[in-house]
Amino acid sequence: MLELKHLSARYDTVSGYVNAVDDVNLTIKRNEIFGIAGESGCGKSTLLKVMYDLIQFPLEIFRGEVSLECRNKDGSITVCHSGEIHKSWWQLISYIPQGAMHVMNPVTRVRNQFFDTVSKYHKRRSKREMEADIVQYLRELELPADVLGAYPHQLSGGMRQRVLIALATFLSPEIVLADEPTTALDVVVQRGILTMLKRTQKRLGNSMVIVSHDMGVHYQITDRLGIMYAGKLIEAGPTMDIFERPSHPYTRMLIAALPRLGDSSQKEGIPGTPPSLRNPPPGCRFAERCPEAAEHCRTAEPLNYQVGKDHGASCHLLDGKVPLSEDEGGQAHG
Ligand code: SF4
Repeated sequence: MLELKHLSARYDTVSGYVNAVDDVNLTIKRNEIFGIAGESGCGKSTLLKVMYDLIQFPLEIFRGEVSLECRNKDGSITVCHSGEIHKSWWQLISYIPQGAMHVMNPVTRVRNQFFDTVSKYHKRRSKREMEADIVQYLRELELPADVLGAYPHQLSGGMRQRVLIALATFLSPEIVLADEPTTALDVVVQRGILTMLKRTQKRLGNSMVIVSHDMGVHYQITDRLGIMYAGKLIEAGPTMDIFERPSHPYTRMLIAALPRLGDSSQKEGIPGTPPSLRNPPPGCRFAERCPEAAEHCRTAEPLNYQVGKDHGASCHLLDGKVPLSEDEGGQAHG
């Protein structure tokens, strides 16, 4: 459905390039929810923007490519790349950016935000017909039709996020990208949003990519998961497999830091901070924080090893396992 091959993207800043995404191989399959996890600043939101073809200065792709399969009206498939993908926004690929409050136009009623989006693709439909379709869709998502008359500030944070999901999925895109869809929401609302995302994905039978720093969100909703650290995708595989058999020390530490029901032990954070992406260190980027680091970790970059079915991880501790070829790396890395 969506494939990233050796993708590297950076920000051109006055003090030099910030290499936010470095040599990422990833394949998003049809009819799955793929999660991307990692600390703030690890490149996950940049990766989502690049997938969406939302490439504006100072962001640029400087290596690799993104390809998206586009299904034509006659059922045939063509492939579009970065620079073309934006032509299919909303219809084929849509994006739920971070921060529902700031994304919607504060002086426009929700109804008009829907019209602005839908009218580009349904030019022959009258406003009355479009509104009937929108109301019908909101009902299917169990949202009250009166949200259409509201301004964004009149809706609660959870309702704004639901409206954004409705807007992003109204035209039945084949892939939806969501950036931190539950951030700043309380746990009850968060659960409702996750349920809505999962139901919508099942209903449309499409693909979703969900970026979240919260491993609990990934556990609840994603089918496969990729872990990013300092611009690199360091582990990827089926979500349950990663939670049961995390292979990279960073993934193990992320999972160990999760609170669990009935477990009152003190949770440890991961000491230290990620390296600067202006001038990343050679070797493994996690070496400064890794309790298992050896000398060669600081000089040699680890290969990507197969650690399970469709599950790969990049760490020298896995030397001896089968390294994945570049093509296989694309699959195992997502
Ligand atoms: Fe730790 Fe070395 Fe593995 Fe990096 S390669 S995660 S430093 S053991």
